Amino acid sequence: MIDIGVSDRVFVLTGAGVSAESGLPTFRGAGGLWRGYRVEDVASPVAWARDPLMVWQFYSMRRKAHRGKQPNPAHLALAKLEKALGERLFLCTQNVDKLHEQAGSRRVVHMHGRLFQSRCDRCDRPPFDDENCYEDHVPRCDCGGQIRPHICWFGEMPYELERIARELERCTVFMAVGTSGVVYPAAAFVAQARASGKQRVRTYYVGPEEPANRALFNECFLGKAGESLPRLFHWSQLSAISV
Ligand code: NAD
Ligand code: ZN
Repeated sequence: MIDIGVSDRVFVLTGAGVSAESGLPTFRGAGGLWRGYRVEDVASPVAWARDPLMVWQFYSMRRKAHRGKQPNPAHLALAKLEKALGERLFLCTQNVDKLHEQAGSRRVVHMHGRLFQSRCDRCDRPPFDDENCYEDHVPRCDCGGQIRPHICWFGEMPYELERIARELERCTVFMAVGTSGVVYPAAAFVAQARASGKQRVRTYYVGPEEPANRALFNECFLGKAGESLPRLFHWSQLSAISV
């Protein structure tokens, strides 16, 4: 069990594993291949420059695969935790899906972007909501640029890193869920949380196997997120301290 007191600030980092039980496979779980390509070679600026239609076909497939998917008990537990802790919970996800929002989480930071947003690859028009699938053409912006998925591709800089760094500095509990600990910079967040020189931080991992950065976690709860996460908190204690 994880004890959370009135003065704790909790940083939760989720990865592809938190959505696996909802039927959205992790890249490694899916074999890491799409039409024979490594996912890293499709989700990249190089692929976009070479063959933007192929990139859109990949993301159109992922938009379609999301249809009808429902949050699982892990997403629901994190939404409940937000209700209890308010702004003392910071939820940062590497996932581009919208299952945290569907579960009721209101303040989710999507450091790798959002599957259902697009943006221009040329002008600074802000990202916009976009549910469309593009399988036979690449959409264009009024400025003449091409519209691309609002996704942080391999080799690009994740979003909101400054805000994330501030939260890592002040959290007292750090929890990672369903992330293999090999994709940087997210894999370094646990070290950043521990390094900030404040009072001792408690660090936890939840997932079916130990992550690559296991040594940095005080405790590792082995199991599927949907099964173990809802049981990790003292809900009655939390409702007593809820905001
Ligand atoms: P990953 O594929 O590298 O690792 C997934 C992790 O999830 C593994 O450690 C695995 O043990 C764990 N896992 C599998 N089933 C689980 C379950 N039921 N409960 C808890 N954990 C489980 O994914 P990653 O480390 O998140 O990084 C790969 C990148 O791929 C990320 O940037 C992410 O944005 C992207 N991605 C996103 C989605 C999505 O949005 N749903 C899906 C696939 C990949
Ligand atoms: Zn434009």
